[in-house]
Amino acid sequence: IEKTFIMIKPDAVRDRKIGEIVARIERSGLVIERMEMTTLERATVEEHYAHLADKPFFGGLCDFMTSGPVVKMVVSGLSAVAKMRTLMGATNPLDAAPGTIRGDFAVDVNANVIHGSDCLENAEIEIKRFFG
Ligand code: ATP
Ligand code: MG
Repeated sequence: IEKTFIMIKPDAVRDRKIGEIVARIERSGLVIERMEMTTLERATVEEHYAHLADKPFFGGLCDFMTSGPVVKMVVSGLSAVAKMRTLMGATNPLDAAPGTIRGDFAVDVNANVIHGSDCLENAEIEIKRFFG
């Protein structure tokens, strides 16, 4: 059983998609172990996206991620990391398949509705970072 870190981003909270996203996660057979709505500190976001610090969109990404509340979660289950990445769809909504969370709810790559850890190692780091 794996645990992964998931976050419903501020655009989806604003667009009242929390319920639909939570329903999709539960329908997939994964289990939501922890869930909390919170507004992130900029320093936390900068640390979370440190691997993108040299990208031109980094400032805008940090602005976006602190622009309103997010819903952070610990989700567990068999192959939870990969299963959530599949459920989420591609990073760029233009490439995300219909039926995926991003494919159905996201409009552009600057605001793509949901975050999910990209590997088990990062899942552990992110759960510690966001839940302590
Ligand atoms: P996340 O880490 O949010 O789950 P991801 O792992 O699919 O997304 P990353 O490469 O880690 O993709 O990028 C992190 C986030 O940075 C993306 O979700 C998106 O919000 C933003 N981002 C990535 N590429 C771009 C881009 N070309 N233009 C604008 N924003 C981008
Ligand atoms: Mg990522």
